[in-house]
Amino acid sequence: MSVIVKDVVDGSYGHRAGVLPGDELVAINSHDIFDVLDYRFYIQSRKLTLSVNRNGEQLTFNIRKGDEFADIGLDFETYLMDKQHSCKNKCVFCFVDQMPKGMRDTLYFKDDDARMSFLFGNYITLTGLCEREVQRIIDMHISPINISVHTMNPALRVEMMKNPNSGESLKIIDRFSQSGIEMNTQLVLCPGINDGDELRFSLSELAKHKTVKSIAAVPVGLTKYRDGLYPLRTYTKDEAAAVIDIIDEFNAHYAFFNDGQILAYASDEFYLIAERPLPTAEYYGEFSQLDNGVGVCALLKDEFINALADTQSRSVNRTVTIATGDAAYDLLCELSHMAEEKFNGLKINVIKIINNFFGETVTVAGLITGQDYKAQLKGKYLGDALFIPRVSLRNEGDKFLDDVTFQELEEFLGVKTYAVPNDGYVLLDMLIDGGV
Ligand code: SF4
Repeated sequence: MSVIVKDVVDGSYGHRAGVLPGDELVAINSHDIFDVLDYRFYIQSRKLTLSVNRNGEQLTFNIRKGDEFADIGLDFETYLMDKQHSCKNKCVFCFVDQMPKGMRDTLYFKDDDARMSFLFGNYITLTGLCEREVQRIIDMHISPINISVHTMNPALRVEMMKNPNSGESLKIIDRFSQSGIEMNTQLVLCPGINDGDELRFSLSELAKHKTVKSIAAVPVGLTKYRDGLYPLRTYTKDEAAAVIDIIDEFNAHYAFFNDGQILAYASDEFYLIAERPLPTAEYYGEFSQLDNGVGVCALLKDEFINALADTQSRSVNRTVTIATGDAAYDLLCELSHMAEEKFNGLKINVIKIINNFFGETVTVAGLITGQDYKAQLKGKYLGDALFIPRVSLRNEGDKFLDDVTFQELEEFLGVKTYAVPNDGYVLLDMLIDGGV
């Protein structure tokens, strides 16, 4: 196995040693290089011997580094150096299966790659890990790993993920735990399937592993494109409240034996469905499950209140608009009201965007499409500036899920538009100064 060097950074250790674009990196210090994890791991040494194949000729380059963790400046064809691993499951709740046809190809890719978990915090199911990969995670002590567990009941996991290996692969959690690998875990809950007593069981089983650092419970997300798929429904108010109660009950017991620490969190969406007040920022500790929508509202509110306290009140004569999904609408109304009280002349309209593209049960800002923004903001008075959540633009940064570009939206609406990150300090700054 080898990987092709695409570029060598000028002045880097690799450049000074003589490595060239087009070289095949075969091994570092006699360790074969298969992908980015091998590369990242084996360059962590002051003395490196690179084995390289250049047009059939085997070359050796010796590198001495001042800092053992310093990069050596090699770039590769793809970030992972080989193909991203796709999942081998057919989960009954899979969001990818619920997307309409005709969207861009990358949105249909079902990622389940342990390297992406390490590099970008993606969640993996463990079902696709071969023995070599499991052992490599242990040997390299790649930690933390983010794991989509869903249930600790092996038979139920097979049923939910439609993969015969998904029950057995739960044993990898034992191996990671015994090897000191920390784990953040996720349970996508489906009403009547893996909640209730099944949820109690999963929580108590996960809690037996001391290296499990957090558990996030997230309600299943359902779009209107479910024809022919497994029959699932969304949570009712009472069912969502019951999930929160089970988690609170579990945490109370866990905290009693663990110095007051809590382990499991219901996502913000559960509180919104249950119409229960969201916990305050202190509840979420290190906010280790923000990517699962756990504590996002509390963090935004906390930052916004701190930002308000740090900012002198003054006159701000402007009218602006915030557009967001149903999930964050009430919170943004509350924050806007606080800002209007502090800054004389500031007027903030908050507009709720209903997700007509995926269906009204999808309430998060991250899944609002450009066409819904366009249709629901068209003809409305938006004032001096429009703010939308940056998360709606997904990974591409300038494009919504339906390929409408940010620029297209701005031109269509004829108002200066800003994509604002989920950061209370930036939000306040943008509201009072953005675009001025
Ligand atoms: S592992 Fe993820 S991507 Fe794969 S089928 Fe399950 S939900 Fe879909």
